[in-house]
Amino acid sequence: MSIFCTIDDKHVPLYRILWIAAIPHFCGSPDCQHEGDYEVRLEGGESVWGAQAERDAAIEAIELWQGELDPDEDNDSLP
Ligand SMILES: [Zn+2]
Repeated sequence: MSIFCTIDDKHVPLYRILWIAAIPHFCGSPDCQHEGDYEVRLEGGESVWGAQAERDAAIEAIELWQGELDPDEDNDSLP
């Protein structure tokens, strides 16, 4: 699988994602460019903003990625 997911036309490395918004953004500001988008927070204080489908795909990708880290596999390399 890819270590990237696509959000707002950007390939975002899954390991740089800190958290993903559960609800669409709403702040009421007339200048806001992200009303109704889902915020994906990255390391370094950056955020990317995605549609619901992108948000869902990112969550699924992270779950798949973490699911590959089978804790039992580590035991094979121990003496
Ligand atoms: Zn806003």
